[in-house]
Amino acid sequence: MSVSRRVVIDVGHTESEPGAVSPFPPNLSEWEYNSRIAALAHNLIYTADVTVLSRDRGTNGYRDLPGKINAFSPQLILSLHCNAATPTAFGTEMIYHPGSIAGARFATILQNEVSSAMGWLESDTGYRGIKSPIGGRGATLLQQTCAPCVIAEPFFLTNEADCRKGIEHMNDLAEAYARAVNGFFECSNF
Ligand SMILES: [Zn+2]
Repeated sequence: MSVSRRVVIDVGHTESEPGAVSPFPPNLSEWEYNSRIAALAHNLIYTADVTVLSRDRGTNGYRDLPGKINAFSPQLILSLHCNAATPTAFGTEMIYHPGSIAGARFATILQNEVSSAMGWLESDTGYRGIKSPIGGRGATLLQQTCAPCVIAEPFFLTNEADCRKGIEHMNDLAEAYARAVNGFFECSNF
């Protein structure tokens, strides 16, 4: 019996409030970059129906995002971002909700797929790993969504080498996200 499943891909930020921007041409913002990635990954996900969305623009957009996602009753949620910090910070990390076993599993699959797309070995500093901060980054989204949810931070838009790699490896990254979603569902009994 086939069961229909849905994954929501949340493209972080909005077109008019697009998040961090790469410091050199093509000066891609988080929103633009991840919109392209989401469209590429969408075509490669064969284990679930895919809904791509973003928060609504304006001050309540982030607060209302979990409800907007939950309305689609997904079994899995992938929130696409890029990291930003001091220029020296670099690497790949995934954020999931503390205590969520399925979230940790999806984060681990994503961490391994995305790191290898970015060229990191597990022993490299750039393999920053999976993280579950309590009440930290993305807490509203992670706490209030009704399915395993991971915030993906594949590289730092504030680090030049990282950012160039991210732009160069867009197709690899989209494939990595799709492989992670397919891998999660193929090993799950829904
Ligand atoms: Zn972001």
